[in-house]
Amino acid sequence: MSEPSRRGASPRVRRRRALVAAGGLLVIVLLAAAAIHGLTGRDATLAAPGHRTSSSGPSTAATEPPRPSPSATPVAAPAPTFDREAHSIDDPNSIWVVVDKLRPLTPTDYIPNDLVEVPVAFANPPALRHEASGAVVALFAAFTAETGLALQSQSAYRSFEAQTRVYNGDIATLGQTGADLSTARPGTSEHQTGLTIDISAQPGQCSLSACFGDTPHGQWLAVNAWRFGFLLRYPADKVEITGYEFEPWHFRYIGIPLATEMHDTGVSTLEEFFGLPAAPSYG
Ligand SMILES: [Zn+2]
Repeated sequence: MSEPSRRGASPRVRRRRALVAAGGLLVIVLLAAAAIHGLTGRDATLAAPGHRTSSSGPSTAATEPPRPSPSATPVAAPAPTFDREAHSIDDPNSIWVVVDKLRPLTPTDYIPNDLVEVPVAFANPPALRHEASGAVVALFAAFTAETGLALQSQSAYRSFEAQTRVYNGDIATLGQTGADLSTARPGTSEHQTGLTIDISAQPGQCSLSACFGDTPHGQWLAVNAWRFGFLLRYPADKVEITGYEFEPWHFRYIGIPLATEMHDTGVSTLEEFFGLPAAPSYG
C-alpha cells in the first residue's frame, strides 16, 4: 500500500480500507498473542534440566526471559572406564584371580576343571586351562611369524603335589630363604591356576634365568605378550611388591582386556592394579 494512492479515493473506498485495516490489526493482535503463548510453552521445554538443544533462535529474542547462555564448549562424553570388577580376583576359577604370598588359592589344593594339553613345542608336556592354551598357541605363532625364531613351553600347570616336589627340591639346594625367592610354596603358586606358563627359547638359551630377558625371545615377549592377554608377572623393578625376583620367562594369562588396560596405563603388577597389599613375604 503506497501513501499517494490514498489521496482522492472515494468515501466507499476509504470505508473499505478502514475495514481492511481494522481486520488486519485484529489479525496482528491475534498472531502476537499466539506467538507469545507458543514461545512461553516452548520456553518451558527448552529450560527443562538436561535439555541439550541450543536455546538461541532468531524468533525468540524479544519474548524469552533472560537465562544463562549455553556453554560455548560442548560437554565431552565421559571416557569409557575399565570395569575392575568384571571378574573376581578371589575365585580360583576366575582369569583375574590374584595369587601371591599373602593370597593363597582357596582351596589350597584347587584343580582347574578345564585343563587341556597345549599344542606347542615343550621341554615338559604342558597343560593349561582351555582359554589360556589357545592364547599360548596364538602367542607362539605370532612370535615365530614376526621374528623367525621359536619358543617352547618350559613349565605350565603344576598341581599342588607337583609344586610340593619343586618347592622341597629348592629347599634342599637353596635353603628356605632361597626357595621362597624363586618358588612359591604349595597353594600359592600361579602355576596351580592353570593360567601360567614359563616360556623358553627353542633351542634353549638362558632358560629360567634372568639373562632370558636379554635374548630376542625374552625381549619380544616383554613387549608383546599383552597383545595375547599375558602379563610378565614378576618385573625386575617390583620385587618388593610381588615377592619374586625378576622372572622374564614367567607369564600369567589374564585375558586381553585386562592385559591391554595394564599396558595402556603402565601398571605392571596385579597387586598395584587392584590396590592390593604388597606381598614381599608370607607375612
Ligand atoms: Zn613360573
